[in-house]
Amino acid sequence: MSWSIPIIRIAGIQLRIHVTFLLLIGWIALGSSSAVIFVLLLFLCVVLHEFGHALAAKAYGINTPDITLLPIGGVARLERIPEEPKQELVIAIAGPLVNVIIAACLYVVIGARGHVAPEIAVQKGDMLAGLFQINVWLLLFNLLPAFPMDGGRVLRALLATRLTYARATQVAATVGQAFAFAFGIVGLFGIPGLFHANPFLIFIAFFVYLGASQEAALAQMRDVSRRFPVSSAMVREFRTLPATATLQEAVDALLATSQHDFPVLDETGNVAGILTRHDLIAALHKGDTEIHVADVMRRDIPTVTTGTRFEEAFRIMQECNCPAVPVLDGMKRLVGLLTPENVSELMMVQSALPRRRPA
Ligand SMILES: [Zn+2]
Repeated sequence: MSWSIPIIRIAGIQLRIHVTFLLLIGWIALGSSSAVIFVLLLFLCVVLHEFGHALAAKAYGINTPDITLLPIGGVARLERIPEEPKQELVIAIAGPLVNVIIAACLYVVIGARGHVAPEIAVQKGDMLAGLFQINVWLLLFNLLPAFPMDGGRVLRALLATRLTYARATQVAATVGQAFAFAFGIVGLFGIPGLFHANPFLIFIAFFVYLGASQEAALAQMRDVSRRFPVSSAMVREFRTLPATATLQEAVDALLATSQHDFPVLDETGNVAGILTRHDLIAALHKGDTEIHVADVMRRDIPTVTTGTRFEEAFRIMQECNCPAVPVLDGMKRLVGLLTPENVSELMMVQSALPRRRPA
């Protein structure tokens, strides 16, 4: 989200604009100055579309912390994913429904004003008619059954009534990536006799591909992190070092095992810190191998318990930027280590077992 700029807050929802969206506006504004007004109105339609999603989510008690505008549309980041496929379906459809309403209103206004059908008005360069046309395009584009478009969410919601959430996401993401490839190829070479090569389509393909991949990775992470406590994937076999061990002893342990990071225990057997490979190597550069590990280890290491959900453990790991987090049991004894490697291993194992529904 670092590439997006906060604009305003409406009803507790932070509106953000992605840098590339601004580039798009700039590029269009270069063409003509009246185009700027048109782009701002288009921008308003996209914002209203996203508020459609946000308000539908609110009806199910789900808040939307922010809405980010990208060149291919907006992304309303929901506080949590709706529990039921039906809820996701309604939230996904609420956005395109806004475009239907806008297009219908514009159609009525254009018709009442000049007795000219919108199709003809577009050819005359009429701004409202152009806006009508763009809302229809937005609607059709968003309803493509592919992630990250709303149609992809509809597809996932429908699939999720039969498959697990993660599996349904995978299918919708694969369809999304297939669309991205198709856009990319049409953008590059065009369709002979029908459609010219268009760099803008390649640009869209890039965003669609990225969005589909991100969504798939996130959904899998979320799925695993919700279903499992850390005890299901922690490292159970590992070496510890006493606080009085020397760096030479730590080096021996580093070479004798495949472990990178070692929990350091004080004389009562409690976790005093973690000696990371990075810190060990840095200390060795100073040349004294008789220093105690207690003088080199990281002390500001948080711990989790066996019952902690992955979701929470991930957050803790990211916040402290720790290579390994000690896992304690109910008696505060060290029983495991959580590392990024074994977390990704759990994910690999889970994605190899796609059709098993959680109990
Ligand atoms: Zn949408």
